[in-house]
This record gives sequence, structure tokens and C-alpha cells, in this order.
Amino acid sequence: MDIPRIFTITESAHRIHNPFTPEKLATLGAALRLKPGISVLDLGSGSGEMLCTWARDFGITGTGIDMSPLFVRQAKLRAEELGVADRVGFIHGDAAGYVADEKVGVAACLGATWIGGGVAGTIGLLAKSLCSGGIILIGEPYWRQLPPTEDVAKGCGAGAVSEFLLLPELLKSFYDLNYDVVEMVLADQDSWDRYEAAKWLTMRRWLDANPDDGLVKEVRAQLTSEPIRYATYTREYLGWGVFALMAR
Ligand code: SAH
Repeated sequence: MDIPRIFTITESAHRIHNPFTPEKLATLGAALRLKPGISVLDLGSGSGEMLCTWARDFGITGTGIDMSPLFVRQAKLRAEELGVADRVGFIHGDAAGYVADEKVGVAACLGATWIGGGVAGTIGLLAKSLCSGGIILIGEPYWRQLPPTEDVAKGCGAGAVSEFLLLPELLKSFYDLNYDVVEMVLADQDSWDRYEAAKWLTMRRWLDANPDDGLVKEVRAQLTSEPIRYATYTREYLGWGVFALMAR
């Protein structure tokens, strides 16, 4: 079981597979006022940076589930490196339908809400693992400004303008699901650059090291087009944030 190989090539050097910097992850942890011993479930945990650094900085315990064997391997190495392998564990698997055996204080899905079939479905899934009074974290894109045409939305990698909401509409959608929004930390253009521009050097180095690989054509095409596509569309139109929710 794995995700498409193009992602494990372009994001192999990323610790955070989202438009967040380490500082923003730390800001989020502090904003949530995490206490030692709080348990955190992370669906689509990637390379485990959130759980590992929060275990180091705030003393949380946690479990992450991710479909990429490479990212899970990197997450386990990171836990060893930060000396928190006794507090956080990473499972390779499909997080769709995953419910924790013991209820957690924080249940998160950052940048992978397709796992529950969209934002509403993912909130419903995370809620099944959450203790009463617990916090759900959703990391999700929104439009910084509404794309004037469907082509601009597609340039941002969205299927259509209707795929994402403006920030006030996204916040309202949480209220409509009967949740209070109790905190949020938003990406900015600089943190988007850390996510997107970091792929370019990784692609270039991968191309130099793997000239005979079957994906060379695709990676070469991406490296050539991505900087301009990103600067034209995503960087201008797409926002991203993590929203902390509590059931009303
Ligand atoms: N939350 C992480 C990773 C976000 S990228 C971070 O912020 O760094 C999306 C992640 O979802 C990838 O690591 C990918 O491997 C994982 N993923 C995709 N589909 C999945 C599924 N069905 N179950 C578990 N993980 C999945």
C-alpha cells in the first residue's frame, strides 16, 4: 500500500508536507495549550513532524497513521532522533475509517481530508476517537481571493472554484457542523514557499541522480513548469490553515 510515487520523489526531503513552517507548527502547539500527557491522533501523519516536535516540546503522546511507507519510516527515524520514540508511534496503513482504541484529547487531520471523504466526513471520523471536550484539528485550503475563472482554479491544482471556500465561508461551514472554532493558525506566502519551492531542489537533485528512471520525463516537466505555475496561481489565490474545533 503506497501513495503515487511522484509524491515520494518530490516531497522526499520535506519534514512537513504542508505549507507550514516548523515555527507555525510550534505556534499551533502553543496556541492549543497542550499539557504533558495529552494524547494526539494524527490521520495522514506524513513524516511525523507534528507529533515528534509536540512530544519533545509539550510532552504529548501520540499515534500517526500514514499510507506512505517512506514517510512512516522517516517519522520513526525522526522520533528516534528527537528522543521521543517511547511517546509517539507511527503505523503504516489506510487511515480511512481509523478509530483509536482509547479516546484522545486531540484528533487531527492536516492536509489529507480526503481520508474521510471531505471536511465534514473527516470531522465525523475524528470525532469517533475524541474524548468529550477534546479538540479536532483540520488542516485545509481556502481561497485567499476567489479565482476569477475556472482555469485559474485549475491552475491552483483545484478541480473547480467550488472545491474550496473563502476563509469566512470555511469558518462558517464548521459552525454549520455544530463546532466552535476555538483557534486557528494560517499559512502565509512565505510558508507556502517552504512547501512548494522546496520541491524544486529535491526534483533537480533527483533528476541528476536518476537519469534513467521511468519518471524522469514527468519530473523534468514538473520542474520546468512548477515555479511559474506556482507563482501565477497557488501563491496568489490559495490559502491554507489549521482550524481547532470543539463540539458545541
Ligand atoms: N499531515 C502531514 C502530511 C500531509 S500530506 C503533514 O502535515 O506533514 C498528506 C499525507 O496523507 C501524506 O503523507 C500521504 O501519504 C497521506 N495519505 C494519503 N492518503 C492516505 C490514507 N488513505 N490513509 C493514510 N494516509 C494517507
